Amino acid sequence: MQSNAIHRPSRTKIVATLGPASNSSEMVLKLILAGVDIFRINAAHGTAETFAVMLQNVRQAEKNAGVPIGVLMDLGGPKIRLGKLPGDELTLNENEAVRFSNLVNEARKSAAGIPILTSTYEPLVEELAVGDRILLADGTVELRVTEKSPRGDWAECLVVQPGTIRSRQGVNLPGVKLSVPAMLEVDRANAAWAVQNGVNFLGLSFVRHASEIHDLKNIIQENGGGTQVVAKIEKPEAVENLVEIVEATDAVMVARGDLGVETDIANVPVLQKEIISICHHYRKPVIVATQMLESMTHHNLPTRAEVADVANAILDGADACMLSGESAVGEYPVETVQMMHRIAMGTEDYVRSEDYAFISENSPFDPILEATAHSVCELAENVQAKYILAATGTGGTALCLSTNRCPVPILGLSHSLESLRRMSLYWGVLPMTLPEEMQDPTEIMRYVITLFQKQGFLTPGDRVVLLTGQNLDSCHNAIVVYEVEKTSLRIG
Ligand code: PEP
Repeated sequence: MQSNAIHRPSRTKIVATLGPASNSSEMVLKLILAGVDIFRINAAHGTAETFAVMLQNVRQAEKNAGVPIGVLMDLGGPKIRLGKLPGDELTLNENEAVRFSNLVNEARKSAAGIPILTSTYEPLVEELAVGDRILLADGTVELRVTEKSPRGDWAECLVVQPGTIRSRQGVNLPGVKLSVPAMLEVDRANAAWAVQNGVNFLGLSFVRHASEIHDLKNIIQENGGGTQVVAKIEKPEAVENLVEIVEATDAVMVARGDLGVETDIANVPVLQKEIISICHHYRKPVIVATQMLESMTHHNLPTRAEVADVANAILDGADACMLSGESAVGEYPVETVQMMHRIAMGTEDYVRSEDYAFISENSPFDPILEATAHSVCELAENVQAKYILAATGTGGTALCLSTNRCPVPILGLSHSLESLRRMSLYWGVLPMTLPEEMQDPTEIMRYVITLFQKQGFLTPGDRVVLLTGQNLDSCHNAIVVYEVEKTSLRIG
């Protein structure tokens, strides 16, 4: 693939969820050209056939665009949903009684006229206790358990916060420790399919412990490897076990939708900052998700608050910002991506690299690479380099550089398409394909400089800094500064 990554100058990465509004390779191409780096397939909706079509659309558009594009399949996980409601909708009034039952398939009314609700989680009634809170309809409706039947077949609740609920809406139980596993059978099957079909990232919903990440990593290994895990932080238990989860995972998502229901919504902005900061110390890329430009689902302009939210996520240190309904079912998917891209462009110069540029004790990288990457970023700024070139086997060197939030763009050069697609998540990294046989640092440098001079991105007098090793897979500890000359390459 001949990369034209250089035409895509935003350093913050954009993740866009696929859906009916973006379900053709033509539309996917438009979204790539507008700035999308990674497409998300939400496995909570759809079938193996629809996932295959989505993946095919992305790969076709990626080929046409000539830019490595990542694909994230977000596993549905044990999200509890309401069963079917009569007429698909029910209004619950304040102080009304309502029952959850595990005996019926469809909601109805009890003999006493009390509405009966069902859920997709069979042991729900068993695991509820008197006093537990149940949140429905994205947290807009609140119930409190007041009584359990002696036989354990129903739990009666009082409506604390009234509102209208619909069939299949999510059921959140903040603070209730459920026995449900992080992956259901369908998640395991989807994960295996994703790995076998070259999906780059798997999102693990409702993570609570690092062991759940190890479990998914085992599935990935058993199916050939190569796919990375994105731990979605959306449960209070995940916040409690954040460090062990961040250490175990490859990347993180601040999944603010469920996080804002499972924890106090008022704390979400501060949690976002804390999660991003820990990710930064552990050198794990982090995505901020949900309602970023929500109003653009139906309008061609966002609210001022949404613009500020995207900008603040970038200033907090997010690698990527995610669109959900905006690109999946929205009326303005391309305009929304363009808007996110514009906000990123207007914000990135205010990212204070001095807050990020340090050698982390918690880095998973070789300490020599960690220190060398830090020096490269400082050096590149001091010599006013146009680009940092990172010739990398797995993408790790590019990630290590990226976490320093250096204002100089990083070219992630690799032979491996898998690594290039992985780098689509790293802030400030432009993935670029290297010809297969190319290993020698001087040769790599000549190749990039010749190409970039031809394309007008480099002119005589410009400097670039190369970070390399003895070969692409060895520890990168050699720094070379090059200055572009009129006729030949001067190596300094
Ligand atoms: C979220 O809860 O913010 C999220 C991204 O997860 P999902 O869209 O799967 O609910």
